[in-house]
Amino acid sequence: MTDAFGAFNRTFARGFLTGRTALVTGSSSGIGQAMARGLALAGAKVMLHGIEAPEQAETARAAIAVESGVEVAYLNGDLSQPDCIAALIGKTEARLGPPDILVNNAGVQHVAPIEDFPDAKWDLIAAVNLSAAFHTTKAVLGGMKERGFGRIINTASAHGLVASPFKSAYVAAKHGIVGLTKATALEGAAFGVTANAICPGYVWTPLVEKQIPDTARARGIGEEEVVRDVMLGDQPTKAFVTVEECAALCVYLCSGLAGSITGAALSIDGGWVAR
Ligand code: NAD
Repeated sequence: MTDAFGAFNRTFARGFLTGRTALVTGSSSGIGQAMARGLALAGAKVMLHGIEAPEQAETARAAIAVESGVEVAYLNGDLSQPDCIAALIGKTEARLGPPDILVNNAGVQHVAPIEDFPDAKWDLIAAVNLSAAFHTTKAVLGGMKERGFGRIINTASAHGLVASPFKSAYVAAKHGIVGLTKATALEGAAFGVTANAICPGYVWTPLVEKQIPDTARARGIGEEEVVRDVMLGDQPTKAFVTVEECAALCVYLCSGLAGSITGAALSIDGGWVAR
């Protein structure tokens, strides 16, 4: 009998990503921070990123560095600005080496009916949630192909697969990033580079907390009803997805044993899109 689980055990031993560099956009909080922590615990050097000033991210950066024992740095930058994206990639390469793992996770949300949806919010959501992932992917894909290994993970959403009212820009951007993921997967497949989209349902993070009052206003209901009937109403488990569950999927996708998973939009949503 072959030791089929030898590869499994080696893969998930602490440190299986030692020697890899990961860049996780939007990792100053929420899902991205948990993914960054998971990747660091698996041994990867990690560049954290967010829009916040370095002082605001320092507590989290230091905690992940101490817990994991790997190099963890932080850069801030507004991903709606292409110049900032180029600087983020360049500084990551200079500090930690070229990214073997790119997690396009930064995202923003705005909730309003289409007739009232501010043009500037549409432009911001399209830029941060979609165009930024194209620019970062464009910057790192060639190097990953040359080195024969790469993992690109795009945080999409259940809203990359189905729509909800009052989230036109977000739904459009998240459907767009699922498409970008598929195209990236096809271009990377022959070079050891995989690209996948993670599609969470509602996860309790600042992004979700902030949209509760706007959703209540747009739907003309109370904030408790938003949580119970709109957010958890969509999720058959009646529970929020956790950031740790998202992080575990991200780390798994970076393993060698996930090499055949590419171009997928992987739901982690308590059954939401199974309806
Ligand atoms: P969060 O608000 O906790 O984190 C958002 C991150 O994006 C932060 O690090 C922030 O600094 C960064 N960011 C915001 N604006 C930016 C900008 N202009 N430039 C650069 N970075 C910017 O949110 P979260 O809930 O952890 O969301 C992370 C990702 O997960 C997003 O793409 C979001 O759409 C997606 N998502 C979230 C949920 C959920 O329920 N929370 C569900 C599905 C998908």
